[in-house]
Amino acid sequence: MNRNQEIDSIIEALQQFFPVKNKPYPLHEPLFAGNEWEYLKECLNTNWVSSAGPFVDQFEQHLITYTGIKHAVAVVNGTAALHICLLLAGVEPGDEVLIPSLTFVATANAVRYCGAVPHFVDNERTTLGLDPYKLGDYLKEITEVKVRGCFNKQTGRRIKALLPMHTFGHPVDIEPLEQLSIQYQLALVEDAAESLGSYYKGRHTGSWGMAAAVSFNGNKVITTGGGGAILTNDPKMAQMAKHLTTTAKLPHRWAFEHDQVGYNYRLPNINAALGCAQMEQIEERIEQKRNLANQYSTAFKQIKAVQWFAEPASARSNYWLNVLLLDNSFETRRDEILDALHNHGYLARPAWRLLHSLKPYLHCPRSDLTVAEQLERQIITLPSTPVQGGSHE
Ligand SMILES: *Cc1c(COP(=O)(O)O)cnc(C)c1O
Repeated sequence: MNRNQEIDSIIEALQQFFPVKNKPYPLHEPLFAGNEWEYLKECLNTNWVSSAGPFVDQFEQHLITYTGIKHAVAVVNGTAALHICLLLAGVEPGDEVLIPSLTFVATANAVRYCGAVPHFVDNERTTLGLDPYKLGDYLKEITEVKVRGCFNKQTGRRIKALLPMHTFGHPVDIEPLEQLSIQYQLALVEDAAESLGSYYKGRHTGSWGMAAAVSFNGNKVITTGGGGAILTNDPKMAQMAKHLTTTAKLPHRWAFEHDQVGYNYRLPNINAALGCAQMEQIEERIEQKRNLANQYSTAFKQIKAVQWFAEPASARSNYWLNVLLLDNSFETRRDEILDALHNHGYLARPAWRLLHSLKPYLHCPRSDLTVAEQLERQIITLPSTPVQGGSHE
């Protein structure tokens, strides 16, 4: 097969799943197939639309039951959730936080909101997330653990936290990362924005760190329009998260008493209503996503130009986005392939631009990033909505 035929065969594979007549196909579309209309109407009928109301508590309870994590605090978006997680972790201005370079920009932005500095470390090919062994070697080389914590010998700054991300829903190799966090006195926080419904060794992602952030943006596995949550097993953290996200107001019938600078990050009831209806369907949605992934894996087996990315061993992924890795010989044609897919109505995307190459983060510390750089050249994410729906009645 010549090289252009290889590209045509990628398009033909996609045509099996997504018929020509419904194009274009975005990466991930919301699906409202349950009680969404009913619950939204209830908000309007009862006047509970804003930052208090029964759906917020119900939504948090859904998240607790589903993930098995003990506490959930619903907030306005995943980025706000990350910001609060890092504050809870004790990240202070001038600290460094270890994050992957291959992630959505929100991960680094949340670090900056705390006045801290992202320190970029490398990914691995088996999970697409942080490489714990490479990180271990790196920390051994560049850090010194003192009474006040772990210090970067090169910059003199304290490294306060480790913030891995579960890439496209695939669980990172979290156990050895947890080991490192203990060894180096780093607060472990998980960016689980993409991994609701993903498990590592049978345990839901987001349950290893001291706190985790999830997102319910319109393109995630389930949506509240915009929204996020802080998940934690620590009751004190949960209480602080709730306090900080509700303007740090002390409970009182009528007084405006605030004991610190808080944030107005609480998820509105109207968004939580959508979330409750979505959580009622999550098991089914994940099953549909895993089925689509399974079919994708078969469809791309014969195509030499690409390798479909399978969930890591000992993980059960939500397959939020299906990933193709371009063969080395096709790396230089990534953009051409993306153009061809778009011309046919498949709105495939590359990986995010590596964060250390973005203007606000050019001068941040980083380790060798060879694998992240290679993955950036090779990753293509595919339309991954399992069921076409979303029609407005
Ligand atoms: C979506 C996402 C976020 C942020 O979530 P928002 O709800 O859009 O603020 C953070 N990190 C990653 C990796 C994400 O994919």
